[in-house]
Amino acid sequence: MTSDAAGPDFDVVVVGAGIAGSVTAYRLAERGLSVVLIERGDVPGSKNLSGGVLYGRVLETVFPHYLNEAPVERRITRHVTTFLNADSAVSLDYSADGLAEPGNAVTVLRAKFDPWLAGKAEEAGAFLMPGVRVDSLLTGPGLDGATTVVGVRAGDDELRARVVVAADGVNSFLASSVGLRQKQPTNHLAVGVKAVIRLPRADIESRFGVSGDRGAAHAIVGDCTLGIGGGGFIYTNTESLSLGVVLRLDDLLRSGHTAIEVFEHFTQHPGLQQYLHGGELIEYGSHLVAEGGYPMVGEVAMNGMLVAGESAGLAINSGLTVRGMDLAIGSAIAASDAVVEAVAAGDTSKAGLAGYRRRLDESFVMQDMRTSARAPKFLERNRMYGPYGELIADVLQNAFSLDGTPREHLLNVARHALRRSPLTLRQLISDGWAGVRAL
Ligand SMILES: Cc1cc2nc3c(=O)[nH]c(=O)nc-3n(C[C@H](O)[C@H](O)[C@H](O)COP(=O)(O)OP(=O)(O)OC[C@H]3O[C@@H](n4cnc5c(N)ncnc54)[C@H](O)[C@@H]3O)c2cc1C
Repeated sequence: MTSDAAGPDFDVVVVGAGIAGSVTAYRLAERGLSVVLIERGDVPGSKNLSGGVLYGRVLETVFPHYLNEAPVERRITRHVTTFLNADSAVSLDYSADGLAEPGNAVTVLRAKFDPWLAGKAEEAGAFLMPGVRVDSLLTGPGLDGATTVVGVRAGDDELRARVVVAADGVNSFLASSVGLRQKQPTNHLAVGVKAVIRLPRADIESRFGVSGDRGAAHAIVGDCTLGIGGGGFIYTNTESLSLGVVLRLDDLLRSGHTAIEVFEHFTQHPGLQQYLHGGELIEYGSHLVAEGGYPMVGEVAMNGMLVAGESAGLAINSGLTVRGMDLAIGSAIAASDAVVEAVAAGDTSKAGLAGYRRRLDESFVMQDMRTSARAPKFLERNRMYGPYGELIADVLQNAFSLDGTPREHLLNVARHALRRSPLTLRQLISDGWAGVRAL
């Protein structure tokens, strides 16, 4: 397409071929709009990093057979949540084969999954431009006098469009540059460090108690993060493990540790060696994660532009799960429907694009963001990352060790353990109540 002063080059420019961008581009191209999908990485996924559990039911609404077509690794049928102390571990182990049919959560490796998703957008007719970094937005005055986005600039090139969808991820400088995102306080962000470790399939299956295409997801809190707010994870892929830590930025800065130090402590922890030993490191990286929850989501539309996925602050860390990919897909569905409607009506102003926010609010995306709105504040209670695991382990140690002396009633065991712990009964009640309300 050529550019001239009279009209746009494309109906829509989508920036970022991550999850939100590729799904948006696919759904727009599928409905006949001209779409360019711009990705700074040489290959989609090459700049992306994710823990890797995709809660994929929403993707089935876009690609009903994605489980058979897409490069998914394993279907998660086992969720293990562990309080890890220096020399003990307490786990809640939930496994159910029913979680596999229909697929609830699957592990994906973004280096494989993102190219597949971007390929779907290309097949539908979107024009993929990899290896191109968008430097800035092209703006002009709108009919209402407010700033209107009319395209993007990448190097010396300018591309004009009726609508720009910013799907450029958690750091979205596009959204910041036009005031749709404010500078976030450090407690709204977390640092993720993630690695992929190659391990023979047979080892994965015996160590994690899974077989065939079934997999396990371990969420770990406590000593593995040196008590810093956040947690660790290990997810099984077909022939590798995804593992890492997600650390609240404010707490990490306060601790004086670097994220790399915490990650190394995590991988060296004796409680984890049983899973990791003998593995070969094949991928390693660090990335921010949006953790501010509902208060982090601001305006998502303006004249000529929408923000989707994590660039809109859409991510949830509930302590048990980190979710961003399914919310990115949900927002891409809402964004693409709103853009189709606005382009058809010939009104891509903020008012014309207002259907995006309405659809987001009605969908599971904002409903889940609202449901989890109290989670970030709850997870700022640092007692969660040390004393609780030790208290539970203390109770269990005394409940299980019999040394020939008469055993105490469990209530007394618990009372004595609480006395030894830095926690108070008041804190226990307050945290329990806050936890129930937040999660
Ligand atoms: C360690 C870690 C673990 C996580 N674990 C999970 C998990 O298990 N499950 C889950 O659901 N979520 C998880 N998340 C969150 C999840 O990865 C994100 O929420 C999700 O990737 C957001 O998708 P997105 O499409 O909005 O953005 P992204 O996936 O970040 O995609 C943005 C894309 O935009 C491109 N881009 C950025 N700027 C430009 C530019 N200027 N020009 C062109 N291209 C640009 C990037 O290269 C990238 O491809 C995790 C995150 C981290 C860091």
